[in-house]
Amino acid sequence: MKHLFLVLIIFISIDISAQNDANNIKKIYSNSLTNGKSYEWLEHLSNKIGARLSGSLGAERAVAYTRAELEGLGLDKVWLQPVMVPKWVRGLPELAYIETMPGKTTQVNICALGGSVETPNGGVRAQVIEVSGIEELKTIRLDRIKGKIVFFNRPMQADLIDTFEAYGGCADQRYAGAMEAGKLGAVGVIVRSLNLRMDDYPHTGSMTYGDLPVSQRIPSAAISTNHADLLSTMLALDPTITFFFKQTCKQLADVESYNVIGQITGSQFPDEYIVVGGHLDSWDLGDGSHDDGAGVVQSMDVLRLLKESGIKPKRSIRVVLFMNEENGLRGGKKYAEIAKSKNENHIFALESDSGGFTPRGFSFDCSEDVFNKVLGWKDLFKPYLIHYFEQGGSGADIGPLKNDRIVLAGLKPDSQRYFDYHHASTDVFSAVNKRELELGAATMASLVYLFDTYGIDAE
Ligand SMILES: [Zn+2]
Repeated sequence: MKHLFLVLIIFISIDISAQNDANNIKKIYSNSLTNGKSYEWLEHLSNKIGARLSGSLGAERAVAYTRAELEGLGLDKVWLQPVMVPKWVRGLPELAYIETMPGKTTQVNICALGGSVETPNGGVRAQVIEVSGIEELKTIRLDRIKGKIVFFNRPMQADLIDTFEAYGGCADQRYAGAMEAGKLGAVGVIVRSLNLRMDDYPHTGSMTYGDLPVSQRIPSAAISTNHADLLSTMLALDPTITFFFKQTCKQLADVESYNVIGQITGSQFPDEYIVVGGHLDSWDLGDGSHDDGAGVVQSMDVLRLLKESGIKPKRSIRVVLFMNEENGLRGGKKYAEIAKSKNENHIFALESDSGGFTPRGFSFDCSEDVFNKVLGWKDLFKPYLIHYFEQGGSGADIGPLKNDRIVLAGLKPDSQRYFDYHHASTDVFSAVNKRELELGAATMASLVYLFDTYGIDAE
C-alpha cells in the first residue's frame, strides 16, 4: 500500500511538471506571436543598417544597435567581446560578358567571391573550360587548363529534400575551386551560384587560396544560375568563345570588431551556461535578413521571451551575437577560446543560422543518452507542429565550444526557399515572414527553457 502511494506521488508530480512545462511553453509562443520583438529588430537591422560584412561600417553599427537593444531588456549583464576580423571589400560592381566573336558580347551577372583577389586592371579575358567539379578538373591535361578560365558548373542536387545537403554537395567548387585551378595555371574561375532556383542573381560566399603563393592566386566569381546555363549552352555550340570579367575587390588588414553578449544570470546554477546565438555579420549583396539577421533577432528574443513569460532561469542564459561567421569564423572561435580560458562550464548551445523560415525542429550534436532525454520532450512541441528531432550537426559559430559534455543544437527551419536568398542581393527584409520568424524564436526559447529546467544529465 505504501509503495503504491509512493508510485502515485511520483506519477502525479511528473504529470504536474509536464503540465507546468506545457503552460510555460504556451506562454512563450503566445508572447512571441502577439508581442514579439524579433521582427521589429530585424526591420531595423535590415532596413536602417543594411549589409554587415565583417569590418564594414554596417557591422560596426549593428554591434552598437544590438548592444543598446539588449541593454534595454534589463538583462543582468551586457558586454562586447573584442575580436580581430578580416576585412574584404568588393570595390566597384563587377563586369562580365561572353564574347562569341570579336565585338559580339552578351553581358552576364557575376559577383566576386568573398576573399577573391581583384582582376588585373584590364580584366581577365580567356577561353573557358567547363567542369563539373574539382575532381573532374584534376583529370584534365594541364595544357588544356593553362591560360583558361575554369567554369565550375555542377548544379545543386534538386532531389535532396534537405537543401543544406544539396549545398554541402556543391560548396567545395566555390570554396576551393580557385585554389585548385590556380595551381594548374588557370587565369580565373567562374562558379555556378549555389542556388536551386533558375534566376539572374549571383550568390557570393567564402573561398580560400590555402597557402598558394600570391602569384598563383586567381580571381574568382559566382555567376547566376540562368547565366551559368547560358554559358554552358554557348560553350557546347562553340568551345572557342571567350569570357571577360573585371572585379576590383581587395583583402585589407584585419580590424577590431566585437561579439555582442547579453546574460541572464542563473538563480541556482549561475556557473552553468546556456548559449543561444546567431551571427551579426552578413554578406554585402543583400542586407542579410535571413543570413543571419533572423538568427540574431530570434536569439535576442529568446532572453526577452523567458523574462516576459515570468521564467526565472536556474542556469545562466547567454545570447551571443557572433561576428565574422561568413568569412573567418573569428567570433565563434574567440568566444570558445575565452570560455575555455575562464573554465566556464557551458552545458548547452543553440544556434539559428538556417534562415527565418517556419521552424520544423532541431538537429542535435550530443550523446545517445542526452538525445533520448530530448526525445522525451517531443510531445511538448506537438501543438506547434515542431516534429524534427534528429542527431546531426549544430552550427558553425557554436562548433568551437564542442567538448565531450556540451550539447550543441541547431534550429531547423523549413529549408526549401533558403538558397533562393542565401548570400545574394535577394536576401532582404521582405523575404522574411513575420510569423515564421516569431515561431522560430519561440521554438528556440522553449528548448532553452527545457534545458535550463532539466539540465543535460541523463535521467
Ligand atoms: Zn549564416
